[in-house]
Amino acid sequence: MREQGFDALFDALAEDRCVGCPAPRHGEGMWARWLCADCAGDVPTALAAVRQAPEGVARAWALGPYAGPLGAMIRHGKYQADARILEALAQVLAAELDHQPIKHDLNAVVAVPSSWWRSMQRGLDPVFHVASPIARSLSRPLQPALTRQHRGPTSRLGRLARAAHHRGVFRAKGQVDGDVLLVDDVCTTGSTASACARELLGAGARRVYLLTVAAVRFS
Ligand SMILES: [Zn+2]
Repeated sequence: MREQGFDALFDALAEDRCVGCPAPRHGEGMWARWLCADCAGDVPTALAAVRQAPEGVARAWALGPYAGPLGAMIRHGKYQADARILEALAQVLAAELDHQPIKHDLNAVVAVPSSWWRSMQRGLDPVFHVASPIARSLSRPLQPALTRQHRGPTSRLGRLARAAHHRGVFRAKGQVDGDVLLVDDVCTTGSTASACARELLGAGARRVYLLTVAAVRFS
């Protein structure tokens, strides 16, 4: 009982706090539900091309670096199972993608599959909540073209270990046609995107583009 009371008190206090810093949340603007005015001002509003696209990926874009408010927003979405913040970020990505000529030739949107046990733990699949509004906004199907095998978490692995880990984790399902937009929440080392791109190209995709909310090695 005591613990429950403490949790409720903590929730009440946390409710007014910015997701990105200890400051109180701001009352206005599209990020008012989550951020203080300073952090909201730091959220990038335009897509940037990632200078070194992961191997197999024709072009890659991210909204901004993982450090700063974007990373905090993604973590909040994932760990607090707050789909709304991920969908709000997806709306910004979708609106920005509208300016990119590649959208005309896109055949489908493919979400990088999250591991099912992680999704179960978290109560939501974060990448689905980013990819789904983007597909809707582009009027393209969200194609379940990839499956993921269960392996352990990668967050503590280095770059080479991650690449080895990801080999064979993703498998294409059926035939993939034309240009495909691969969507993930974060591009960390690029090894996930490369592994997915290889599979999609092997299954018949003409080109694979990558769109992520944030990138660790940005610009
Ligand atoms: Zn803040």
